[in-house]
Amino acid sequence: MAQNVLVVGELVNGALAATTRELLGLASRIAEGGSVGVALLGASASAAAPEAFSFGAARVYASDDATYDVFRSDQWVAAAEAALELAQPATILLSQTMVGRDLGPRLAFRRATAAAMDCLRVEMTGGALQVTRPSYGGNALATYTFATSPAVVTVRAKSQEQPVAATGAAGEVVALPAAGASRTEVVSRDAAAGEGLQVQDAGIVVSGGRGLGAPEGFRIVEALADAFGRDRAAVGSSRAACDLGWYPPSQQVGLTGKVVSPDLYVAIGISGASQHMAGCSGAKNIVAINRDREANIFRAARFGIVGDYKIVIPALIEALKAAKR
Ligand SMILES: Cc1cc2nc3c(=O)[nH]c(=O)nc-3n(C[C@H](O)[C@H](O)[C@H](O)COP(=O)(O)OP(=O)(O)OC[C@H]3O[C@@H](n4cnc5c(N)ncnc54)[C@H](O)[C@@H]3O)c2cc1C
Repeated sequence: MAQNVLVVGELVNGALAATTRELLGLASRIAEGGSVGVALLGASASAAAPEAFSFGAARVYASDDATYDVFRSDQWVAAAEAALELAQPATILLSQTMVGRDLGPRLAFRRATAAAMDCLRVEMTGGALQVTRPSYGGNALATYTFATSPAVVTVRAKSQEQPVAATGAAGEVVALPAAGASRTEVVSRDAAAGEGLQVQDAGIVVSGGRGLGAPEGFRIVEALADAFGRDRAAVGSSRAACDLGWYPPSQQVGLTGKVVSPDLYVAIGISGASQHMAGCSGAKNIVAINRDREANIFRAARFGIVGDYKIVIPALIEALKAAKR
């Protein structure tokens, strides 16, 4: 059944965020012939419209007011509501980013409807929207349908097919109002320290846990990431290892850390506690290296190696180097 879908988009350096491109691909699939719109806010909103058309949007609801470049919930929620009035969507898609986590529940509350957060699968089944999201800290997947409309859905990054841009696509730009006054004052912004590829953007994440035994164990984990190539591999950590001061908290994966969805997640000396799995259960493949064959991580792993990481990892690095030769 055809339905209008509205994406609340995000911009990075004047272009669509990768997560927004992913949402536009998803919107095109579930609209089933209905209209796909995207709300873009910030100085480069209209300039990004051609890119949005190429990824499937028919309409871009844009405000080029640079005030929106800094996310303030009250201003963004008002703009998103204005876009809702124009687009009349049955489904609203947001990314499970800081913006989406904040806006999704606010929009749902204002529309007296439901929000499903952090969804991994979003599909139309028999004319009804059906979403699947992790529950019980990532130990189970729960599937929901909506009893109210519009459905508000936030979607985990990299959980959807990467869309391909169409050439020559065109659409309509509809103006949204400039930002009103905000009750929020942003006093300062500090970028998290972190060099190179961010753990949530990496195609391969190699993570170490308390089983490394000492901070020096992370040098071996880093060597494995180097062997994969630092253009695609990043190093993560369990909370236990971060709490011990072995690795920076910025690299923590899990419920209270980063949520990653890489193609490959290598868990080294990590037991697989539910709070850790909440951050990596969206990985396409999990490889676990653990001394304890009963460790919970093996339940989620596609491939498991039972052994001491100090013996296993050097052998893996050699094998990777040999494969590259
Ligand atoms: C509210 C809350 C939020 C939390 N949020 C997070 C979170 O975001 N992320 C997170 O990770 N945790 C989180 N936790 C903590 C979580 O419950 C676990 O305590 C933590 O994940 C355990 O980390 P670990 O697997 O590194 O350590 P452990 O559970 O101690 O596991 C170490 C593993 O290493 C193996 N091992 C030991 N030596 C070797 C060796 N030489 N070679 C190979 N394997 C070896 C052991 O067999 C064991 O399985 C949270 C907890 C709470 C209560």
